[in-house]
Amino acid sequence: MTGWPILFSALAMTAIVGVRYLITSGAFAFATKLKHPRLYRGLERQMRREVGWSLASAAIYGIPAGIVAWGWQAHGWTRIYTNWDAFPLWYLPLSLLAYLLTHDTWFYWTHRWMHRPQLFRIAHSVHHESRPPTAWAAMSFHPVEAVTGAVVIPALVFLIPIHVAVLGLVLAIMTVMGVGNHMGWEMFPRALVHGPAGRWLITATHHEQHHAAYRGNYGLYFRFWDKACGTDIGLGDFSAAHRRREHAADACSDR
Ligand SMILES: [Zn+2]
Ligand SMILES: [Zn+2]
Repeated sequence: MTGWPILFSALAMTAIVGVRYLITSGAFAFATKLKHPRLYRGLERQMRREVGWSLASAAIYGIPAGIVAWGWQAHGWTRIYTNWDAFPLWYLPLSLLAYLLTHDTWFYWTHRWMHRPQLFRIAHSVHHESRPPTAWAAMSFHPVEAVTGAVVIPALVFLIPIHVAVLGLVLAIMTVMGVGNHMGWEMFPRALVHGPAGRWLITATHHEQHHAAYRGNYGLYFRFWDKACGTDIGLGDFSAAHRRREHAADACSDR
């Protein structure tokens, strides 16, 4: 039957996305335990829910990715290339930037759209049920939201030529930033976050503020759209949030 290779590719990609999530979130959760031992205390039920939604999202991400990967291998679909000479070398960083900027633009507008009250209840409240989010919340999305995220890269590979290694880098950045931005502490140095680069780049301190305020800071990688549209609400403050968590953890252990 001709459908089997497609099905196999979709299942394999689902497994890859799921395992990638478990390894990355697991590693960051472990780093959190070392750095802030009490930060996730009392959040065990929430974390189980985050893992459940994230693994469901892995299937939603894996299906289009698997179909496109199959089409690339079997029929030469997509503009993914493997020969380093196919484009000039300067195109490598340019393609990386093009993918990140396009993904960021898509994310900003779909995310902002999902904050409209009616749609929020259907599609986006699952992601905001994590209060505060943990490293396991990186893919904690309702299936509707997961679909909006899952189609981006599989669509872009048909439009913008990209070397397969740069595509791997795009996916790695997407995964690390997705996990890092939710883990409840900042992994980047203060000089970067509060310096000139931090005025344009999104890290955990920026996205945490989105989760704290339920509005504003809708971007993914860059603060460009938030600044251009007046939705940038500035950087969050982890120290206050950490103090609150310490008290919550104390209250839990007193019971
Ligand atoms: Zn949101
Ligand atoms: Zn988030």
